[in-house]
Amino acid sequence: MRSFEQELARRLQALEDAQLRRHVREIGSSAGTRIVVEGRELLNFSSNDYLGLATHPKVKAAAAEAAARYGAGSGASRLICGSLKPHHQLEEFLAAFKGTEAALVFSTGYATALGTIPALLSKDDIVVIDKLVHASIVDAAKLSGAKLRVFAHNDTEDLEAILRWCDQQRTGTSSIKIVVVTESLFSMDGDFAPLKQIVALKEKYGAWLMVDEAHATGLFGEGRRGLCEHESVSDAVEIQMGTLGKAVGSAGGYIAGSRVLIDYLVNKARSFIFSTAPPPSVSAAAQAGLEVIRSRDGAGLAATLHSRVAHFIQSSGFSLPPVMSPILPYIVGAESAALALAAKLLEQGVFVPAIRYPTVARNTARLRITFSAAHSVKDIEQLAHLLAGAEAQPKDK
Ligand SMILES: *Cc1c(COP(=O)(O)O)cnc(C)c1O
Repeated sequence: MRSFEQELARRLQALEDAQLRRHVREIGSSAGTRIVVEGRELLNFSSNDYLGLATHPKVKAAAAEAAARYGAGSGASRLICGSLKPHHQLEEFLAAFKGTEAALVFSTGYATALGTIPALLSKDDIVVIDKLVHASIVDAAKLSGAKLRVFAHNDTEDLEAILRWCDQQRTGTSSIKIVVVTESLFSMDGDFAPLKQIVALKEKYGAWLMVDEAHATGLFGEGRRGLCEHESVSDAVEIQMGTLGKAVGSAGGYIAGSRVLIDYLVNKARSFIFSTAPPPSVSAAAQAGLEVIRSRDGAGLAATLHSRVAHFIQSSGFSLPPVMSPILPYIVGAESAALALAAKLLEQGVFVPAIRYPTVARNTARLRITFSAAHSVKDIEQLAHLLAGAEAQPKDK
């Protein structure tokens, strides 16, 4: 090996030694509640396709029709000649769905955060994030060059202390901008941000608020717009973000907000400007997914999902967080214990991923159980039964 490969092999070995090396696993089927891994069918509790829309007939048909009509690729970025009808239709639909003036679609959620936060902030500004926000937000905050402050997870007292500090920085130079960023439903802990309190604080201190609804879009609120709708705070959130690859069943990310915000991002969000537009099939599928979500079927699917979660909490007998979240963290602590438990379930035909550092903090390794409206009551009972028989018990955070 050349020294380059030797060096990388050494780094990989260090990950291996710490039980932190990762591998991709080939799935030989669609990513539904049953997946085929190495020829074996497994019951799947790892997908973010919470409503089963990734394999919904209407969503698949929309993708196929758009590919037939507009081609497989978009050919260029949105600002050159890649801004195809399905992108525009999706953005109009999204704005209507979210109840905002406008919306903008990005290729991924990651690109959404990476384009948006640096567009809004520069080095004299301050970005304040929850300790547990997704890597895309952390990376975007760093990329912006703004001062980064982190508040303890869901801790509004800590947030207020930081906002008070921000306010002091502002004396004399009132042009400093402050943006608070949180998720609404946290991706690895499955808990909810105290949005009403955060809104009150950001108003008190004159900050802007960005809420990432990656895991809540399609699931919460009367119109299933997300947790901001459920908490009646949508209008107070300057920048509403979400993804299209989770409950919506397709791929991509979006920002919903005022017309001026969207026009500004078209001009300033580099991940939007300097990247080929999403394939038209992907945008058409996302719109079809949102159409299902908005329909009576969508209401039924969300209700089924919530009832499956409730059934699991009931039948597992563990004191899991008493929230109707489709994400349940089964925290076991040690990296090795989480891996062993996941391996044991796998042997028994159930796939639940072990989530380790750096996705979560060290020694909070866990099984991240995600539920889908497509799981049957029997699927839920099977998982509860297997976990009850496992040696590793969940511990409190
Ligand atoms: C998944 C996720 C993203 C990234 O979205 P992708 O479309 O997968 O790139 C961003 N934020 C949160 C909270 C997420 O869970």
